[in-house]
Amino acid sequence: MAKVSDLNLTTLYKLPWLKKNNPNGWIEPTTYCQLACPGCYRGLAFSNPVRIHEDIIKLKKDIDTLIKIRKIKILTIAGGEPLLYPKLDELVLYAKKRHIQARILTNGVALSYERLATLKNLGVTEVVIHIAQYQSRANCNRGKYCQMFRKVKGVELNFIMTVSKDNFRLLPKILAFYKKNSDVVSRVFLILYRDIFFQKPGMEDTKNYVSLEKLADLIRRTYKVEPCAYLGKTLDPQKPSWLYFAPILISNNTIGAADSQTVEKLFNLANNGPWNAFPAGSPSLVKSLSVLPLANIRRIIIGYVKTIFKNPSNFFKLPKCQIVILLDTPTFTKGGWNLCDGCPDAILYKGRLVPSCLLERIKLGEEISI
Ligand code: SF4
Repeated sequence: MAKVSDLNLTTLYKLPWLKKNNPNGWIEPTTYCQLACPGCYRGLAFSNPVRIHEDIIKLKKDIDTLIKIRKIKILTIAGGEPLLYPKLDELVLYAKKRHIQARILTNGVALSYERLATLKNLGVTEVVIHIAQYQSRANCNRGKYCQMFRKVKGVELNFIMTVSKDNFRLLPKILAFYKKNSDVVSRVFLILYRDIFFQKPGMEDTKNYVSLEKLADLIRRTYKVEPCAYLGKTLDPQKPSWLYFAPILISNNTIGAADSQTVEKLFNLANNGPWNAFPAGSPSLVKSLSVLPLANIRRIIIGYVKTIFKNPSNFFKLPKCQIVILLDTPTFTKGGWNLCDGCPDAILYKGRLVPSCLLERIKLGEEISI
């Protein structure tokens, strides 16, 4: 199996996201949080972080601006911990009124079955749960969230965590869990831990870093798939900043994968329609069949039959696509900050779009634009 570093990126679909045309919107209604995760972009692990709830009028204006200047289709409501924001429901309703889907990025501590059902009824279509062993929380019971989302139905469950040398050895077990629960886990985001957000460029301590190549090779071995798409880096087109894998699973068996042409077709559908036209994860494979190439369908059918032959109980299960996305966060180079193309997670700060991951540096006066 070739290493990612050996890959010719021209065989992968390059996401065409731009500053002025990007499906993702990003807002942060609060800096309150129950946890203090190491590496938190907002510096909440530092002593006496600033705690504020943003004004709802300002946030609604930000949503309007993001629709106007970026043509967003889905709004990520991050933080801090958005479930602690007193007017979260009003915010979600406003996104719905503006025909934008809402995705909540939460630590899940305050998420209950009842709260999830309410958020679904208000218009939340996706939840991303940040859960990891390095957090100071009572437990990392991902299974409880899987049960909750199976019961509520209709809201996509995604998990996110940062990856460093400290927790890399735990990943095989965590990935096995995601695969086993592929009926409900739609996306897995793995962010390479980078200690860059508060120190001066060039002063970061890199001894805990894991490379994108090492992480990608683990995903390939675990899911038995090749990457299918990527988002470029602003200063280094030869390196991906986001790398996508799209295995199709039944329970924990990979029976096929969406290839780069399929992903391109799906993204085009989403670009010309609503965000959920891109059926990542939640819908059954049936919804995607119309865009899969014949050779791909054949491979999936063979994989499906083999899996059922090995374990007949899989006959009653529907194949699902579990998207795995690796994020290589910006690094400082001689040419400046090497950002993600189009910066999908850009936030409005003083009327300007800036990378949310570097906002604390910008607040300290550094000039960084996307
Ligand atoms: S550059 Fe933008 S997309 Fe990339 S990690 Fe930072 S905020 Fe996210």
